[in-house]
Amino acid sequence: MDVDQLRHTEAHASARLEGWSSMLKVLPIPAAIVTPDGVVVAANRWLDVGAGSALLAPECDGRPRNRFGIDGSRWRVRPLDHDATLLLATGEREDAGDHLLRHFYSSGDALFVVYDHESRILQSNPAWQRLVGLTSEEVFGMDTWDLAHEDDRHKRAEIETELITTGRAQADFRLRGADGNLRDVRLHLQYDNSVGRCFGIGRDVTEEGRLTAELEHRAFHDELTGLHNRASLMHYLEDLLGRGGRPSLLFCDMDRFKIINDSLGHAMGDLLLTELGTRLLSVDLGSDARIGRFGGDEFVVVLGSGGEQRARLVAERVEDALREPFDLDGRRIHITMSIGISTCRPGRNRTAEELLGDADTAAYEAKARGREQCVVFDDQLQAVAQRRLDVEEGLRTAISNMEFEPFFQPIVTVHDGSIVAAEALVRWRTPERVISPGEFLDVAEDAGLMPEIGKIMIDATIAAAAHFAALGSPITMSINASDAELHVPGFGEALISQVAQAGLDASSFLIEITESAVLATDSALPVLRRLRDAGFRIGLDDFGTGYSSLAHLRELPIDVVKVDRSFVADLPTDPVTHALTASLVSLCAALGLDVVMEGIETKAQAEAVLEIGGTVAQGYLFHRPMPISDLEVALAAERSTHP
Ligand code: C2E
Ligand code: MG
Ligand code: MG
Repeated sequence: MDVDQLRHTEAHASARLEGWSSMLKVLPIPAAIVTPDGVVVAANRWLDVGAGSALLAPECDGRPRNRFGIDGSRWRVRPLDHDATLLLATGEREDAGDHLLRHFYSSGDALFVVYDHESRILQSNPAWQRLVGLTSEEVFGMDTWDLAHEDDRHKRAEIETELITTGRAQADFRLRGADGNLRDVRLHLQYDNSVGRCFGIGRDVTEEGRLTAELEHRAFHDELTGLHNRASLMHYLEDLLGRGGRPSLLFCDMDRFKIINDSLGHAMGDLLLTELGTRLLSVDLGSDARIGRFGGDEFVVVLGSGGEQRARLVAERVEDALREPFDLDGRRIHITMSIGISTCRPGRNRTAEELLGDADTAAYEAKARGREQCVVFDDQLQAVAQRRLDVEEGLRTAISNMEFEPFFQPIVTVHDGSIVAAEALVRWRTPERVISPGEFLDVAEDAGLMPEIGKIMIDATIAAAAHFAALGSPITMSINASDAELHVPGFGEALISQVAQAGLDASSFLIEITESAVLATDSALPVLRRLRDAGFRIGLDDFGTGYSSLAHLRELPIDVVKVDRSFVADLPTDPVTHALTASLVSLCAALGLDVVMEGIETKAQAEAVLEIGGTVAQGYLFHRPMPISDLEVALAAERSTHP
């Protein structure tokens, strides 16, 4: 060892000793540093011994033991390094001392450093050395801030000032770890004026930080789409309101998502939501806007300002963004949204929750008006919303009380009015009155109650068919099946076996579906094919409303087309409708499809229907929907006139 080296080692050792003894001063327990043969080098204020005193008990043979007595008290010994030993007094504070020591010297993650007044490291524990990938000798004398990432070095001045003025500071900085990666380090620094030393106890908080960031992100973002979540948006909304702002809200609810999700599977549903999220993110909403997903298929946009006009504009942009279909693993899915808008109107203070409720109500109304549109909340809507809630509640009770029954509307041949079939139409019988589906069906659909109501209807209709068969006047029955019912697993099989059990022929039932049920996805097709294979006939209801694709007439597994009454209404008076309906009827004939003309109310309409080649119809002119007892009378009268 040359002279320089020796000097370095000595300097090193004495600086280290200095470091330790400075540390003693801030330890909250009696402690001293002694040489291996028991001579006190330094002690803290909790221990009234001077440097140079012999601290070891007489029975000590000169080598520090793990425990030994002094003045009747117990001591605990910890080796510091080769040439000094730290002794801590036991007693009440033994645990605290143990705890601290464990932290300082053996803890895998607690960092410990002692600096001089220029932030040079005098002492460090193994955890620190491992973190920076240097030995204690290498660390010795280094400027801590040289280890810090250069972008964090600007913090130095502020932290040092704080240390000097208050004696404490927290230093958060990144440093290049032994593995070459940046680590986040948090040091709690304490400055001891009397010795001009600073002690730092800290941790590598990289993982904690990552975890915290992730938790924070999770707390405020939707996991699936990465958009904001409910909490985040509500927070933003409350903040805007709190600052006297006048935000507005768009509640965007995807149309028919449940069907897509149920039929394509949840993985596809998730994929669609993710893609939708991405697409919505690309919409120019304005810099004060925030978009988030509230769960399910509900997306919400908060606009910082701008009122109804701007909200409508944003709604249009959202609608525009959906024009292109989504490509999900090669399947093209077209989606639409029902959008509700609520704004802060003058003179009406709304909380965040109330604004949200208003927008939700408006979106609900948009759905009720036929989906794929935008509705702005107003007072009238408030009343509508309340009524809907009342209806939904009433429906639930009605289901358990079996207050639904079918009315039957005969389907007739136009030229002589003879009954060829009957359509079962649901009625809700309350003690006060009989309610038609127009008043409750959309609420039932939205509340997911259709399968239950449908089940009651199917049971009753099959029973009615069995009743008429037993009376010797069997009659074909039409049953309306909604989207939701067709998607109930096992719907087809249950229907098939139920009809068989009633001893009836499947061919005496017509299952009426609407185009939407088939078109939302192709998923209703298998059940329709299955029913058809089993002998049921399938009818496409309300043709001419909604999609009305002629291609569907060719492609769908159907036997009957029911032409919507909007065609019939104008038939006698409007030549265009007349011509159109005539071609429709002949097209159906060419395709081998039976046609039923719906909603004949006048003689003129009936004649016009005959003119264009329509033979079978349904309408008030012939019969209104009636209870089963009336149908029985009508069928009996029929038998006597057309035996
Ligand atoms: P829909 O299947 O097209 O049934 C024909 C509707 O037109 C019935 O209304 C019927 O009363 C009405 N209607 C018949 N002839 C005339 C007419 O000459 N003029 C006018 N203005 N209307 C006429 P309703 O019973 O109110 O049913 C409405 C709709 O509710 C039905 O339309 C059907 O889509 C649905 N619906 C009824 N019952 C059920 C059911 O049990 N299940 C399902 N899923 N839907 C049902
Ligand atoms: Mg129908
Ligand atoms: Mg119809």
